Amino acid sequence: MIPYRPEPLTDFSVSQNRESFAIALAHVQAQVGKTYPLIIGGETVDTGRYLESYNPSAKTELIGRVAKAGKPEIEQALCAAQRAFASWSETPVVDRAALLFKTAAILRRRKHEFSAWMLLESGKSRAEADADTAEAIDFLEYYGRQMLDLSQRGDAALTPFPGEDNHMEYIPLGVGAIIPPWNFPLAIVTGMTVSAVVAGNTVLLKPASQTPIIAYKMMEALMEAGLPAGVVNFVPGDPEEIGDFMVEHPDIRFISFTGSKHVGLRMNELAAKRIPGQRWIKRFVAEMGGKDAIVVDEGFDIDLAARIIVQSAFGFSGQKCSACSRVIAHASLYDPLIERVAALTRELKVGDVRDEAHFTGPVIDEKAFAKVTSYIDIGKQEGRLVAGGEASQERGYFVQPTVFADVAPTARLMQEEIFGPVVAFAKASSFEEAIAMANQTEFGLTGSVLTRDREHIAYARRKFHVGNLYFNRKCTGAVVGVHPFGGFQMSGTDSKAGGPDYLLLFTQPKAISELL
Ligand code: GLU
Repeated sequence: MIPYRPEPLTDFSVSQNRESFAIALAHVQAQVGKTYPLIIGGETVDTGRYLESYNPSAKTELIGRVAKAGKPEIEQALCAAQRAFASWSETPVVDRAALLFKTAAILRRRKHEFSAWMLLESGKSRAEADADTAEAIDFLEYYGRQMLDLSQRGDAALTPFPGEDNHMEYIPLGVGAIIPPWNFPLAIVTGMTVSAVVAGNTVLLKPASQTPIIAYKMMEALMEAGLPAGVVNFVPGDPEEIGDFMVEHPDIRFISFTGSKHVGLRMNELAAKRIPGQRWIKRFVAEMGGKDAIVVDEGFDIDLAARIIVQSAFGFSGQKCSACSRVIAHASLYDPLIERVAALTRELKVGDVRDEAHFTGPVIDEKAFAKVTSYIDIGKQEGRLVAGGEASQERGYFVQPTVFADVAPTARLMQEEIFGPVVAFAKASSFEEAIAMANQTEFGLTGSVLTRDREHIAYARRKFHVGNLYFNRKCTGAVVGVHPFGGFQMSGTDSKAGGPDYLLLFTQPKAISELL
């Protein structure tokens, strides 16, 4: 088998690539506004109640409507998933992995089409959407191979014992609830779904309400690749109506969640409670928020630091849990660095991502717009506004990339996850103080240190407590299999998506011994 290699990103400086993307976008644009059903046990179900998905760049533009599942449909989906589990859990690993490889081939063939759906539904720029599709392909290729590897790993790890035939198999858990976010509407939906499925589980997939159409497109690709009925049941719906119901249900064996700290903590609590009839301790896997810092050391190149900060803070309007929302800079370069970051920030063009000139698109919806703008107001109290600060929701939900200086490390702007294009600066008088400030948060997801000092690199490796620590580069853009992704503390359950241990979270090892 060819070893896993990450999918290359599209080079949009090549005119042929730009043209093929434009064709795909026009093709997708012609299909907006359709209605999509639930998929339960391989059958389409129309409930007559719909979630509507709008383009955040042009908020009156309907991307599509998707049927809403209620509690009865969740019950049906659970039955279908349980039925499918009986055969899927015993399907040979090679066949389960083949489903992922075939789906990857479909996504690769129609790459720009998937990216175009994301551009319209989530407001991702072309480059960000292309990276999202590439990451979805990576998850499929990587987890497929990881499962083949895991099926051999148990036996290989055992100590031989005379007179016995011993084995250890990683068997699936059962029926799971997959609850992904809207910010990587293809990559994370795909990764969370297929990691559980390739391990032999069957699932209920409740996509984020903001991006159900691209999730449906992934579902179509899985079905085209031969997904058996009931292995993935597509059940979008209102979180208030079906969220708790799914998590608390006694037939659910595990929950895989990516989203906010607030929601994650609540689910963790609900999942921990034993419901009458429940025969297991539910497993809860979560990737939650971040309050990620870039530390800039004395003597580092100011222009390079500024470029890294702008990229990390404002790519996809800062709507990544890995995004840089704090900069802690050494006093010796603090002022010129802020000036350079502010200048680069003012150059960013904000607007509808269908226009290639717009680096920064909208935030996802009205609620996000209200939240981000309220933090800009807080920032005006807590710090000094040096760039951005304006916002308009006339056509789409646009917020100017915003930079605040002189913010105390304990201020709300430095402590609370904003999930938008807002970055705050604080000054440190030594490298050690800067790392201590970087750690002064309840989160622990990503962090970058920009320094040329080897001792400082060694110090930060030991002291900077984040799941993904980067040196001299941006703090976003983890690559599957290359930078296993996930954080500490309130950032989640310390699990690593796209890493060699991830599939263990959806399996349980069974030890088998036969006396010869
Ligand atoms: N894995 C992504 C990155 O490294 C972030 C994922 C997220 O925001 O949930 O940028």
